[in-house]
Amino acid sequence: MANEVLTVDKKTVLEMKNYYQDRLKPQTPSGAVFAAKKSTVNITGYNSGKVLFQGASASEEAQIWAKNSLSTGTTTPKKHAATKKPIDTPLPKGFSNWSVIGSDEVGTGSYFGPLTVVAAYVSKEQIPLLKELGVKDSKDLKDPQICAIAKDLLTFLPHSLLNVMPEKYNKIQPTMTQGKMKAVLHNQALGNVLTKIQPDAPDAILIDQFELPSTYYKHIADQQIQIKEKVYFQTKGEGHHLAVAAASILARYAFLKGLEEMSKDAGITIPSGAGSNVDLVAAKLLKRGGITLLGKYAKLHFANTDKARKIAGLK
Ligand code: MG
Repeated sequence: MANEVLTVDKKTVLEMKNYYQDRLKPQTPSGAVFAAKKSTVNITGYNSGKVLFQGASASEEAQIWAKNSLSTGTTTPKKHAATKKPIDTPLPKGFSNWSVIGSDEVGTGSYFGPLTVVAAYVSKEQIPLLKELGVKDSKDLKDPQICAIAKDLLTFLPHSLLNVMPEKYNKIQPTMTQGKMKAVLHNQALGNVLTKIQPDAPDAILIDQFELPSTYYKHIADQQIQIKEKVYFQTKGEGHHLAVAAASILARYAFLKGLEEMSKDAGITIPSGAGSNVDLVAAKLLKRGGITLLGKYAKLHFANTDKARKIAGLK
């Protein structure tokens, strides 16, 4: 069984914890920031910056983070490590000035709210305008800024926004992993934008990477239309092209609006994330209307559902 160790900085450990938010184990070993399980891989991030990947496909999983690593170690034979390929296909020179369709998703780690995937087309002529409007990495933007920029973008930017609300999500999720759902939605959104912008065509497509390209293509193998041409994957894609940054801003905006509408509907403020404040709100909803009501707003397969049941005294 393969084990992989990466050494990363503290910021990356937190970023990883966020990335694995809906796969976190309830218990973390001492000295650890988080412990998560993603299908066959156990991932443990430590205060020291060491991140341990254990189990089948450990090395595949570690590769997602390989470019953040300060140094790599492996407990498998050195020969294996030497043949390891970097995960990100290097982007061609000048890529950030190309005409690109970018895609990103929001809501995968949040218990409440939709899963939102957006693809958006930014032609090279539009890049200066997007910069002017303040489009950049949405992690550097506050929610009100995101909403203001999104409202501008919605008026002219060719895009496709796919919002899976919790009720639908909960119906699909038992037979489809979240990873597959994301891949199918990205593929769909990209296809929609390609159709929308015809006869124009992008120089490339950039997907904000959430899993290995090989896994992504496995997930969409049963789809009628599979977007594969000129496709690139990058972690932190928003830093590589404004099309991903714009997609990310639009997705975040739709997600926030979704939470706002749910809050109005439920008459209670529905928070994002998967922390303990989320459990308390979930417990209130459970007491009020059982799992049917909770399932209107929440992704029920998260561990938060059990925690909420306990808080509500239902288990
Ligand atoms: Mg993303």
